[in-house]
Amino acid sequence: MSQPLRAQVADAARHLHTRGWVANHDGNVTARDGSQFIATPTATSKRLVGDRTLITVDAKGQVVGHGKVFGEIGLHLVVYERRPDVGAVIHAHPPYATAISAARSNPIERPFIAEALVSLGPKIPKVPYAQPGDAAKQALAPWCELVDAAILGNHGVIAWGKDPEQALLRLELVEHLARIAIEAAPLGGVEPLPASAIQPLLAARAKAGIGRAADRAVETAAQLLGESQQTVVACAPAPHANVATMSPSGQKHDLAAVVREEIVRALRK
Ligand SMILES: [Zn+2]
Repeated sequence: MSQPLRAQVADAARHLHTRGWVANHDGNVTARDGSQFIATPTATSKRLVGDRTLITVDAKGQVVGHGKVFGEIGLHLVVYERRPDVGAVIHAHPPYATAISAARSNPIERPFIAEALVSLGPKIPKVPYAQPGDAAKQALAPWCELVDAAILGNHGVIAWGKDPEQALLRLELVEHLARIAIEAAPLGGVEPLPASAIQPLLAARAKAGIGRAADRAVETAAQLLGESQQTVVACAPAPHANVATMSPSGQKHDLAAVVREEIVRALRK
């Protein structure tokens, strides 16, 4: 049996500290609990978060009961508003991905490893910096239905999933990709996957049933970024369709990530 939700949230918060993805009081974790949300408290090291220190907020971010909510709660709530399938949101400042957030380029925007494309979709966007509060919330809003993880410009990373574990795995993958891209920089930088590889891998992604957010409508995403470069059109329903992707067997999956063997299997189907 899985842990109670509060324990999952507290575990995820402590994990952020253990992995060095936060400093001071950085980072926050929330999970949907009916019409309310369990949240880490403000002004607390993630090292010290336990089930009893967690707080509860309503859909407007108002505290229910005791405690004080963190200032970035709006970033979490905008995801929940736009993604009924999402059960947890995690925000942190992992050093490699945050380096990219503060850099002039985003070397992980386009996939350079098959697992990343199949797990997170064909794009990891960098949301332009916006002032904390409503502006930051509005900047993230257009991406919520398109992706499951995003770099926040000059800030950090935010990822979401059906539960804290899935959101954590996605955040971990973003940080791992960021580290690889930065390590590759002295070698000339990462080489994106060839264009011919993208469509089969997106098909593998659809077959694996990963992602429900209109399965990464990349064309729309590119428009949001104002890009003129050639983009990949995802094999997906309309961007705002609330469609769960089904595997060929009809069984619904919602994996956080895949490994290469699963991609090989999906490509063979
Ligand atoms: Zn932050």
